[in-house]
Amino acid sequence: MSFETLGLSTELLRAVSEKGYGQPTPVQKQAIPIILEGRDILAGAQTGTGKTAGFTLPLLQRLHTSLQTPASGKAGPRSIRALVLTPTRELAAQVAESVVNYGKYLPLKSAVVFGGVKINPQIQRLRQGVDILVATPGRLLDHVSQGTVNLSNLEILVLDEADRMLDMGFIRDIRKILALLPASGKSGRQNLLFSATFSEEIKQLANGLLHSPAYIEVARRNTAAEIVTQVVHPVDRQRKRELLSYLIGSQDWKQVLVFTRTKHGANRLTQQLEQDGLSAVAIHGNKSQGARTKALHDFKQGKVRILVATDIAARGLDIDQLPHVVNYELPNVAEDYVHRIGRTGRAGNEGEAISLVCVDENKLLRSIEQMINRSITKVVIDGYEPDPSIKPEPISRGRSQQRSGNNKRPSFGKGAQAKNGNTRTSAYPQNQKSRRRTSRSRSAA
Ligand code: AMP
Repeated sequence: MSFETLGLSTELLRAVSEKGYGQPTPVQKQAIPIILEGRDILAGAQTGTGKTAGFTLPLLQRLHTSLQTPASGKAGPRSIRALVLTPTRELAAQVAESVVNYGKYLPLKSAVVFGGVKINPQIQRLRQGVDILVATPGRLLDHVSQGTVNLSNLEILVLDEADRMLDMGFIRDIRKILALLPASGKSGRQNLLFSATFSEEIKQLANGLLHSPAYIEVARRNTAAEIVTQVVHPVDRQRKRELLSYLIGSQDWKQVLVFTRTKHGANRLTQQLEQDGLSAVAIHGNKSQGARTKALHDFKQGKVRILVATDIAARGLDIDQLPHVVNYELPNVAEDYVHRIGRTGRAGNEGEAISLVCVDENKLLRSIEQMINRSITKVVIDGYEPDPSIKPEPISRGRSQQRSGNNKRPSFGKGAQAKNGNTRTSAYPQNQKSRRRTSRSRSAA
């Protein structure tokens, strides 16, 4: 199936072909025709599936078509007609970039608002009138309280990565935003909800929001041909940094995403790598938005070899063809492991997920292996053999990692199942443990 058969307009097809996409991804094949019909959808799809284009393309087309229809009564000053809510600033920026890219041949205006940067330029931009607003919930509500956004003419609402928004404590903000919107339902607002997993909370949200939704579920893009090789290198706690530098240098890795558990750990590791002569930059919630954007940009451009990130900061990052992801420290929550390794092996490329595991982390490793339903190959690197006399020590938990609650979150269904096999994964296993963050902790990473 080609993009041409999905019913997209020539302007959108032109933008898509300039991106170089040959075929629509499964989520695009399913979602685009349904959204073009004006139906609500509940989609089980996560970053990496091509979901952003899956909702952005038909959204642009619907807005453009109703703009062209004289009877639509849409004449007059621009007002916000489509709102995309995302959990993180980075994802908001990426979605906004997609809106601009795919919509470059259409006369629609868009803007993005998120926290951590000055609000005034956003206000100026909003004053000029926008059709499509991409926003994180907190900053959107700041704008609402200042009277700088008007959502009363909204036609399409997208909740992107809804499960993450709930994890990050945004449910109250989302409910406040929903209360500001015009009625949905037949001939009213169209609602699109994307989530990788479906907890009771998400189901409740979906039930209250969606009207006769079409259900779409797809596996990650890298489940089919994909290839994430996973390996654990057992190593002593004090020698991890040395081993990491050694691996990067000896194997000549050009672009590596490294995960640490805490912001402090990310900073420290970055400094140490720099001391080892490896260019590295950290990305976490204590960095200003400008610094985060620059770090990501430099990494994507290949100006910096290593991006050291905490889990929340890395959410939704879309970095194409990332060959190596390193768990410098295992995450406290097994589900984060799956999100981390999902950063590699994207778009049908091969990827490698390497975990440096010390004696303190054996319990965490076991819970990860239980969750993904297989054991991960262990390879001891010559010269880095763990000292068996070293005793486990408690793992320090950064503030961002402290969880309350431990609700089981069922997976979405068949597309979410892990495949069996020794060193390969299809990356989205069943019965993940979910975590929930309080609203206080949402800026923590
Ligand atoms: P997303 O899941 O929306 O974050 O998209 C993941 C990546 O897939 C992004 O880099 C997109 O640019 C890319 N992508 C989206 N649609 C396609 C397609 N049809 N063919 C190839 N790559 C795509």
